[in-house]
Parts: sequence; structure tokens; C-alpha cells
Amino acid sequence: MKEIAVGSGIALVIFLALIGVNVTPFVLFAVVIGGFYFFMQNQGQVKFDEVGGSNRATSVISFEEIGGQDTAIKELKEALQFLLHADAIKNMGIRPLKGILLVGPPGTGKTLLARAAASFTSSAFIAASGSEFIEMYAGVGAKRIRQIFRDARKKAMKEHSKSAIIFIDELDVLGARRGSHSGHMEYDQTLNQLLVEMDGISKDDEPRILIIGATNRADMLDPAILRPGRFDRQVQVGLPDRVGRRRILNIHTRNKPVEEPHVLEEVARATFGFSGAHLESLANEAAILAMREGSKTLQAHHFMEAIDKVMLGEKLDKKPNAAELERVSVHESGHALVSEMLDPGSVASLTIIPRGGALGFMRKSPRDDQYLYTRAELENQIMVSLAGALSEELRFGNRSTGARNDFSQAWDMAREIIEAGMSSLGIVNIDDLPAEAFYNECRHIISALEERTREILRNNLGIINRVAETVMEEEVLNQSRFQELVG
Ligand code: ATP
Repeated sequence: MKEIAVGSGIALVIFLALIGVNVTPFVLFAVVIGGFYFFMQNQGQVKFDEVGGSNRATSVISFEEIGGQDTAIKELKEALQFLLHADAIKNMGIRPLKGILLVGPPGTGKTLLARAAASFTSSAFIAASGSEFIEMYAGVGAKRIRQIFRDARKKAMKEHSKSAIIFIDELDVLGARRGSHSGHMEYDQTLNQLLVEMDGISKDDEPRILIIGATNRADMLDPAILRPGRFDRQVQVGLPDRVGRRRILNIHTRNKPVEEPHVLEEVARATFGFSGAHLESLANEAAILAMREGSKTLQAHHFMEAIDKVMLGEKLDKKPNAAELERVSVHESGHALVSEMLDPGSVASLTIIPRGGALGFMRKSPRDDQYLYTRAELENQIMVSLAGALSEELRFGNRSTGARNDFSQAWDMAREIIEAGMSSLGIVNIDDLPAEAFYNECRHIISALEERTREILRNNLGIINRVAETVMEEEVLNQSRFQELVG
């Protein structure tokens, strides 16, 4: 059709030129229209194999190389039986599984799991991110959805695979509730097309297609996407626990000369809340630090510094002036002293070397992972947070802006006490609690703790001054040096 129209157009222009008509405006018009058409075509075309780097699509990875996700791997393997034993499933009249949704925080290994699923089932693998489907031009997203399904089938046939896995990262970008993107029908059309393609998958298809979606906001997804027959298997991919972190550290230090492997146990204990991506970066940073130092092996202090770097950011060149340094030393000494008084042995180190957004910081000693807190434990944490500003106040008679973060942490913990029904308000529903009552209770909790913290600091002002002077001189105090000063 396209060819006939183009051919007839050219013939008409030649004919008009022959009979003496000025064809220049027609030719210009044709060039503009042609250019626009070509542009729109290219907008729709994406080589999905190349999207996000060829690594994402091609390098083979197995489930053994993914740490701390045993439950997720088990659930995923169960779901993958639908691809592995497709004939048995067809004979039993079971409808094929079309979509699996991986839900979890960033960097926990969702992409790795999808890639491992492809090699586990010998499927062709194609990856894309939800944002790659969304363009400002109407219809482009829907076209790309059709294209990715087509490409997946082609790739499977080329690789002689019986199945193909399409991995869509950031599924929430294209799968958000319809109508939630104000005035943007393009999102809705793209999602509709995905649903149409998924509904079109049948048990007789060869190659079979499985969609694996990943998101950290399952609550944002359109209910239509989650209904049975679409993404009806959800696999939670959470942050790893201590044993999981140890396993991930093992994986990412396999090719690195670690001097004492038992140090990794300590590192795993000290990294509660780290994702797999954080741990990979930590192992990498430790190796960089060792190399910069000219060390042939990775030692404990390289790992500890790498933890600080991953948590807080790079060391900064900015040098605070002498008065600021004194204030930061007093502030950090206050945090450390109260922490040590309330929980002996809890201070791992203290420094006034600026890093990331902080001019100084106190690192806590590694403890076992903790998921539940009593009121007393939360109160202790609030007191440690308040201690920095209060020690500045006792020493200099005023506070500084350096305590802003501490206060917001303290406020969050007070909120936690109220929400958990551990405040004097008793059991409350935070949504029904008047804002003023909530605010007054937070203030009440924090003021009482402020008084208790001030008392501890006042009674130990001599120690705070001693620790602050030493940290100003030595820049970093490790646990034994700190405890020696505290006595
Ligand atoms: P996002 O939600 O941001 O896309 P993701 O959950 O898909 O993140 P991945 O891209 O799979 O995370 O992980 C990023 C990198 O972090 C991996 O290449 C790997 O080096 C490391 N990593 C993450 N999780 C794990 C894990 N469980 N085991 C080993 N390495 C991991």
C-alpha cells in the first residue's frame, strides 16, 4: 500500500512537471511529510536487546550467584515450573502462567533473578524498563509493547529456545493506575496494549512467553494488571538479613584477596538495611581503598571505611574553620557519650572528617539485626539523637544548624512510639488522631527525654570536653581509644 502511494505520488509529480506546472511546493511538502513520517517511525523503534546495555540482556547468571534471597528463589523456581513442564501443564488443562511480579526495594537483585530465571529455563531473555515505553508521542508506547513481544518471539526462535522471558523493570511507570497520569492518555494506551498482549498469550503458543515485571511500588499498579491471568504470581524480594548479607559479601569478594575472611562476618553484622547493590559497592570500595593504600590484600579497616563511604558518601575536601571543628567535636562527643552511657560498648568510632553531608559522625557497633523495638529502646535512640545539640548548648550556650537531621530522626522515633500505641495516648489510629494531639504528644515525649539527656551531659561535661579535645587532635577515635577516654 505504502509503496503504491509513494510510486503514484512520484509519477504525478513527474507528469505535472512535464506539462509545465511548478512542482517545487509539492516536492517541499512531500519532503516535510516524509521527514515527519520517518521521525515518527524511529520514535517507535527501540532495539530492546540493546536497551540498558547488552550486559543486561546477554550475560548468563545462575541462582547460585544471588545471595540472601532463598525464599524468593524458591517461589520463583516453583513458578518457573510452568515453563519447564509446559506439556504436563497443558495436559492437565492448567492455564499458562503469564506474568510474575518481583516486588522489593531497589538493588535487592530483581534484575538478577529475572536473568537467572531465563538461564534456569533456557529461555531467550529480553529486558526493558517501564520508562522506555513512555514517550510524548501518542501511540509510541503501545507500538513498543507490540515490538517487544515480537522481538522476544524472534529471539527465542533464533536461539532455538522453546520460551522467552520479557523482563520489564520499573513496571509501575507504565503499569500505574489508569487515569492517575493527569491528561496523559499515552500511559493508559501503553498499559492497555500490555494487557492485550498478555491476554493474547495462549497455552499453545510456541515459543511461550513469560513476562517478569519488577517494581518497588506494587501499591501503585493498576488492579487490572494484578488480576488473575496476568501478573498473578507476586514474589517478594526483600532486603537481605545478616546471613544473606554474608552470602552476598562472599559472592562479591570471590575475586578479591580478602586477608581474613572472618572479617566479612563483622561487616555483615554492621550493615543492617544494606541491599545487595550496597554490598557489591562496599566490596568494590574496600578493594579501591586497599589499592590506593598500596596494600596487596583487603583488610578489616578497608571494609569499615567502605561502610562509611557507602552509608554517608565520599570524604570531602572542605575544611571547617577552627570554631566549627570545635563545635563538631563537642557535638559528636555528646552523641557518643550518651550512647555509651545508655548502652555500653555501642560506640564503634567517632570522627570529625567530613563525609557526604556530615561534618562528623559517630558509628555504632555492629549488633544483631533488629526488627522490633521497645519504648525504652526508642527512647534511648531519641536521647542519643538529641545529645549532639544539647552538648553544644551546654558548652557554648547555643545550638547550631548541624542538629537538623538529628531532630528529624528524633521526631520520627517519637511518631513511631505514638503509632505503636506506646505513648500516653494509648492505642491510636494515626489517621483519626487530630494533628494537634499528635504534635503535643511528640513534643511531650521529646521534652521529657531532652531533660534526661541534659542531666547525663551536665554530669559528664568533663568527659565530653576531654573526648572533644582528643578527637580534634586525632580526627578519628576508635572504640578502645574512646573507652579509654571515657574511663
Ligand atoms: P532496581 O529495583 O533498582 O532495578 P534490582 O532489584 O533490579 O534494582 P539488581 O539490578 O538486580 O537490583 O542489582 C544491582 C546489582 O547489585 C547487581 O548487579 C549485583 O551486583 C548486586 N546485587 C543486588 N542484589 C544482589 C543479591 N541478592 N546477590 C548478589 N548481588 C546482588
